[in-house]
Amino acid sequence: MRIVALAGGIGGARFLRGLKEIVSPADEITVIGNTGDDIHLFGLKVCPDLDTVMYTLGGGIHEEQGWGRADETWSIKNEMKAYGVGPEWFGLGDRDFATHIVRTQMLGAGYPLSAVTEALCDRWQPGVRLLPMSDDRVETHVRITDEQGPRVVHFQEYWVRLHAAVAAEAIVPVGADTAKPAPGVLEALAAADVILFPPSNPVVSIGTVLAVPGIREAVRAASAPVVGLSPIIGGAPVRGMADKVLAAVGVEATADAVALHYGARAAEGLIDGWLVDTADAGSVAAVEAAGISCRAVPLLMTDTGATAAMAREALTLAESVRR
Ligand code: GDP
Ligand code: CA
Repeated sequence: MRIVALAGGIGGARFLRGLKEIVSPADEITVIGNTGDDIHLFGLKVCPDLDTVMYTLGGGIHEEQGWGRADETWSIKNEMKAYGVGPEWFGLGDRDFATHIVRTQMLGAGYPLSAVTEALCDRWQPGVRLLPMSDDRVETHVRITDEQGPRVVHFQEYWVRLHAAVAAEAIVPVGADTAKPAPGVLEALAAADVILFPPSNPVVSIGTVLAVPGIREAVRAASAPVVGLSPIIGGAPVRGMADKVLAAVGVEATADAVALHYGARAAEGLIDGWLVDTADAGSVAAVEAAGISCRAVPLLMTDTGATAAMAREALTLAESVRR
């Protein structure tokens, strides 16, 4: 079975770890990772979502934090601070720095991001084929109004520095309109037996992947069933501030509103099936009324066992909606 998943960082990576538990060795998982979160810091190219997937599946992740390396040290950060060189708000540990140095060096030598990602994964052996959504630079920017007036900030500044405390007025994936899907992305979607949308952020993770011209169309045209899992439980994101970016695109932070935002494939949308948490069982009818098969199952990724059960439910739902 060929499974293709679109993914952001923590929510995507944790789900994929559960998925890996239940597939057979002959199955193939291709991950199309969001690169709209990418940022250049200290002259280095940092790809937070690709790295979170790579470290999580490769056994190098800081478990409690959900991002960055386990057993991290912070000498470089402290040295930069001593020089008065920022930004201080973005956490890059020493071990993590090595990844960004290798990546930047390879990009400088002319390798595309997809080839660089493959090289980094040679070390981490994540057990999936990890593809960036595009080799072209795409950077998500957020329009806000704060004490400095109306302005546009990089997504990381909005998320990490400002903790999404001010309203997001618009989310702009800069460069997406002219970006091309990375090699293998469209082919993987066309050849997929199942396409999954993990409980990643619908706007700045999955939404950004879908903003690369050709990807949305390839999902819509795929012969595989498309099934998503809600990142929203009981009217709030399980973790993070997804409600803030959903508001920016006029979508309520509820499990059913997110499903309708993706839309039914039968009605110009993207998904055939949708899983909500048991706490949202009351929203199943609304999702089904929109032409999307929906089940309420436990969706908290408390451990790998619980996450594996979610992945199994997603594959079961995919089978039931296969055309
Ligand atoms: P990011 O790039 O690190 O923000 O990660 P993603 O975009 O892949 O995933 C973020 C989303 O994961 C958030 O909107 C969370 O609500 C969601 N999430 C985190 N943990 C869980 C969980 O245990 N269950 C569900 N259903 N969603 C979760
Ligand atoms: Ca992210």
